[in-house]
Amino acid sequence: MQLIDTHTHLFEDRLCDQLPNVVLRAQQAGVSQSVCIGTDVQTSKRSVEIAQRFSDSIFAAVGIQPNYCHLAKADDWDQIVALAKQDRVCAVGETGLDRYWNECPFDLQQDYFDRHIRLSQETNLPFVVHMRDCLPDVMVMLREGRQRGPLHGVMHSYTGDLTSALECIELGLHISFAGMVTYKNAADIRDVAAKIPADRVLIETDSPYLSPEPKRKQRPNEPALLVHTAACIAEVRNIPFAEFAELTSNNAKQFFRIA
Ligand SMILES: [Zn+2]
Repeated sequence: MQLIDTHTHLFEDRLCDQLPNVVLRAQQAGVSQSVCIGTDVQTSKRSVEIAQRFSDSIFAAVGIQPNYCHLAKADDWDQIVALAKQDRVCAVGETGLDRYWNECPFDLQQDYFDRHIRLSQETNLPFVVHMRDCLPDVMVMLREGRQRGPLHGVMHSYTGDLTSALECIELGLHISFAGMVTYKNAADIRDVAAKIPADRVLIETDSPYLSPEPKRKQRPNEPALLVHTAACIAEVRNIPFAEFAELTSNNAKQFFRIA
């Protein structure tokens, strides 16, 4: 049995402080690989360092998350482009759009989202999309990107509706579910997780944030807790846990092109 955590932020203090134990507990829980996702230049560098240090189980994604674009300095983007070529980097992001937090001007977020999609299309690395309260805006940019060429990306911690999920899939994307899918009030997300095509489902913890049920009170969340999210989706899809674990691990390996 094997699971792959497609989205974690291991550089965050609460995880970083105890990293060897976090990695060990993940292995013990069957989470054989994890992708550490950067949110700005500093944390993208940290993600690459962590991936190179734990080179038997961790990979990295490099990018500037929409809520950090206004803090980026002039040459930060060039650094992301350079980092994307580093060993063990398997994706660009996270990128995307966010209308919940108001710190970063929306047109600047769109500019950086566009850069990430183009970088993905140039490098063949997949891109990782964050979306909060602005699914229509994200769809507009994905459709635009698709007109330029094929899209290879993932909607991370998906919270949108089924119709949009299916359009994302048609555009070439995968859909990833985090701990929220296990929450009592998340029937809508479970319904999407139950109905999308098997070959496009990915799972993640988005740790250290939002631990899954029944460990919701555990702080911080960590890759080992992926098991609970996997069990929840296996149940709603009505397939055995082991089969779902194999399915999503194979999906993740093909998506990130990792062994
Ligand atoms: Zn994230």
